[in-house]
Amino acid sequence: MRSEPAGPGRAGAGGAEPADATDPALGTVRPGQPTPGAAGRVGPGAHEGLADPDGAGRRQRHELWMRRALEVAVTGPDGSAGADGDAVDDIPVGAVLYGPDGTELSIGRNERELTGDPTAHAEVLALRRAAERLGRWRLDGCTLVVTLEPCTMCAGALVLARVSTVVFGAWEPKTGAAGSLWDVLRDRRLNHRPEVYGGVLEAESAAVLRAFFR
Ligand SMILES: [Zn+2]
Repeated sequence: MRSEPAGPGRAGAGGAEPADATDPALGTVRPGQPTPGAAGRVGPGAHEGLADPDGAGRRQRHELWMRRALEVAVTGPDGSAGADGDAVDDIPVGAVLYGPDGTELSIGRNERELTGDPTAHAEVLALRRAAERLGRWRLDGCTLVVTLEPCTMCAGALVLARVSTVVFGAWEPKTGAAGSLWDVLRDRRLNHRPEVYGGVLEAESAAVLRAFFR
């Protein structure tokens, strides 16, 4: 697991795994991007910037996108969270889906309480809206940015949607499925494994949650 900046206690565990040349995902790798088989999917031990000379630029981009996700977490998709009584019951988790060219395709905020829907997590809503907008379920090349480590359901949905990259903020040791409790996103038994960047603006992301639970 690579972290941006270095996540707590995650550095250096394990080493680079060999590239999997049979993996269809390798065909979609863009120039300058770490290959999923080599750097991108390894997680621990992979050095950012070795495979990708644009590592610093990518980190900046991820942080910029995370600020947008935090904004969504705090204000809601239409900026109305907190304005009426409804949305404030929901744990503030925000997600934004970006297209391959960096276009914002969709956003989602956790709406479980608001809608009474157990699957209405920020990531699922963002995926659904992007798929609707694009008219297809495959979201190759897209990056999902979310303020909290995805749960098993969301990690599964991200894999099913073929999202290329997942960027998340705060770690969720109790339910996280992107390295904490499980690592569904990079389970080597699955054909599709997104690149994962965890701990992006971790302090800010955790602060939003802490403020909610206080
Ligand atoms: Zn979830």
